[in-house]
Amino acid sequence: MGFDAEIRRIAVQKIEERRRLAETQAQMRKNAFYAKEPRAKELDSAIAGAAYSVFSNILIGNVAKENAEAELYKNRSELIRQREVLYKKHGIIHEDLLPKYHCKFCEDTGFVEGLQCKCLKNQMILTAAELANLPDDPSAVFKNFDLSYYSDEPQKNAEASPREYAKIAYDVCKQFARDFQKTKKNLYIYGSAGLGKTFLSFCIAHEVLKKGNSVLYQSAGALFKLLTDAAFGRELSDKDAYIIERAHHADLLIIDDLGTEFGNDYSKTAFFQLLNERITSGLSTIINSNIDIGQISALYTDRIFSRLTGAYAAVNLIGTDIRQIQKKKVQEGIL
Ligand SMILES: [Zn+2]
Repeated sequence: MGFDAEIRRIAVQKIEERRRLAETQAQMRKNAFYAKEPRAKELDSAIAGAAYSVFSNILIGNVAKENAEAELYKNRSELIRQREVLYKKHGIIHEDLLPKYHCKFCEDTGFVEGLQCKCLKNQMILTAAELANLPDDPSAVFKNFDLSYYSDEPQKNAEASPREYAKIAYDVCKQFARDFQKTKKNLYIYGSAGLGKTFLSFCIAHEVLKKGNSVLYQSAGALFKLLTDAAFGRELSDKDAYIIERAHHADLLIIDDLGTEFGNDYSKTAFFQLLNERITSGLSTIINSNIDIGQISALYTDRIFSRLTGAYAAVNLIGTDIRQIQKKKVQEGIL
């Protein structure tokens, strides 16, 4: 599976913009230098035209053909020497007037010998993350998921401690990301606010993106609003139309903060149709919610719902809001 054409097109465009900017800036530096030192412009033209000038001299018989190479070398060397004198006078070197490319391997073309340069691949990941609506948060990686924030004390009405629940959630999410291309699965992560549901789904999103899959992250509220607008045939902005299209076709859709509020019957129906359609198309979905998957059945009793519960693996996080613990640690100077 590779990045879709849109992501590639935007990434190539970004790299081309970088190249144009580097070249424009170099031309501006050169023009400024020519303004101060008009002789430099003459020398540059003469260096560029040195081969032609030697060739003309061969044609009119001023230079013997067998001496052409030596003659060219001599002419060019002399012109370059004169230019060096001018550079020195102004305290610059030749490289100062050349484009300063971001990538020295492909000089901001995105390709090296017909193959995608590493910079293009990185740009595609960045572009994919932007289009996925993901926040630019480099800390959202599995190795930063800290189990010590979760209490290892057994809780009332729970089978295990918050840390044990968190460890299971972490393992399931990590495996989900690792096996993403092999198995088409869906996840339902539930628990109260501030227990790391969104963080874990970002960790998955980043890994999945890196493998070249398309992702869309969207809060449930914003998604319902868009689905309602689409259902009523309201005019959508290009961005919103793109989000709706991605919600149906992205390799991974992450719906954050699903609560009991579904907007209205139209958005509720459209929402369950969307989830159902994604299962049928073999596309993965992650839902983060503060309600138990069983509670959703009270909101939507239909055969679609029973199909959903069967297609989702549910993981649960319990315990105390870890953002409060983090805040306390920062205040105490531990973090
Ligand atoms: Zn490059």
